[in-house]
Amino acid sequence: MFKALILNQQDKKTIAEICQIDESQLPEGEVLIDVDYSSLNYKDGLAITGKGKVVRQFPMVPGIDLAGQVVESKDARYQAGDNVVLTGWGVGEGHWGGMAEKANLQADWLVPLPQGMTGKQAMMIGTAGLTAMLCVQALVDAGITPESGEILVTGASGGVGSVAVTLLAQLGYRAVAVTGRVEENGELLKQLGASRVIPRSELEEPIRPLDKQLWAGAVDTAGSKILAKVLSQISYDGAVAACGLANGFDLPTTVMPFILRGVKLLGVDSVSCPYARRMAAWKRIAEILPASYYQQACNEIELEQAAEYAEAITNGQVTGRIVIKL
Ligand code: NAP
Repeated sequence: MFKALILNQQDKKTIAEICQIDESQLPEGEVLIDVDYSSLNYKDGLAITGKGKVVRQFPMVPGIDLAGQVVESKDARYQAGDNVVLTGWGVGEGHWGGMAEKANLQADWLVPLPQGMTGKQAMMIGTAGLTAMLCVQALVDAGITPESGEILVTGASGGVGSVAVTLLAQLGYRAVAVTGRVEENGELLKQLGASRVIPRSELEEPIRPLDKQLWAGAVDTAGSKILAKVLSQISYDGAVAACGLANGFDLPTTVMPFILRGVKLLGVDSVSCPYARRMAAWKRIAEILPASYYQQACNEIELEQAAEYAEAITNGQVTGRIVIKL
């Protein structure tokens, strides 16, 4: 028997309970894993609280990320004892995920734990960090260099935003952190490498089709009016890597930034990101992320605290990454 956080639905409400379950109850999979760590993302918060329609069937074990050791594998790529990482692929939504001491997964969904990284560190990065790296890479591929100008990062205190700020600073970019919590998190964001911190309210002013050209690029975790405002302020030939919807999933913009300034809007998805790009991103994160990141922007919690933190993350009250020790 082993411990799992199980989500069920009663009268359209999601109920989260810690249960003891048996290996035979796990869904079918090719690789059985002893989970060491999972993490809590915004999406996990939506799943556990039931505030978002994330879970596709009940009962469900949430946890879109996990790191652990292979117990047994039907796939030749993995052997017992291998350290592996899983992010995305609908795990924790349609297939039982990381918030249990064991998981049974498809081999294609896994990546080997990057050289020199612990499972805990991999979860401090998790889906959020991988997404941040993919966003930064998208800007690099679009030709945005440190000399191009300042890079705006919205939702900077969050999981994606805090890693994006750190990675950009490490690569020599001037990262300008946008946060709704300047008083609370301004100092931390500067420690992570933000060159400046600005209040979210500056991006909540009325949107003009074209505003002052302020930013060479941006990593946007917000969407909606915030992304529209950001697009209107991007300099000629600049680019925005858009990955999130913390402000909303709509986009009330015009074509003006695109057709008059050549601004590029780059969509970023980490969930179904192909293996080669995923591995390259993990390798790059392991190279770039400084040791200080792991001390500054992460909290470790027990599985029993996941429901409480799920509520907090969906209320925008969490700073940085949360890892769950199994
Ligand atoms: P998170 O840790 O909850 O961070 C989101 C941050 O956004 C918050 O910390 C807050 O930062 C800011 N925020 C909160 N409410 C806001 C609002 N109404 N308007 C503008 N900003 C707001 O979440 P995360 O894990 O970093 O994820 C960020 C977003 O990216 C989410 O929408 C998530 O669904 C998405 N995501 C997408 C992918 C992908 O593959 N495309 C992968 C991972 C995540 P401040 O207090 O600093 O403002």
